[in-house]
Amino acid sequence: MRRVHEMRMVRTEESGYEEWACPTCGRKLMLRWPPHYEKLVIEPGDELVGHVGALEMTASPASETGEHERRWLRETGKARHLGHPEMI
Ligand SMILES: [Zn+2]
Repeated sequence: MRRVHEMRMVRTEESGYEEWACPTCGRKLMLRWPPHYEKLVIEPGDELVGHVGALEMTASPASETGEHERRWLRETGKARHLGHPEMI
């Protein structure tokens, strides 16, 4: 059974990248969402652990879809409890 850490989004840059950090092991990465998906790992942290993250979309009345209240970050194939269609 793999361990899983939950990452938090720290901030969004003007370039469109989001900074995500893991409070447990210190992993930090920059992430840009599809269709121009890119991931840049700044601090590897504990790479033996799966990392997932949830972003609350609380104030998004101008959202294109309006269907999703949150987005998920997933870096492992094991976190099945995050059954969301926007998983990466
Ligand atoms: Zn971690």
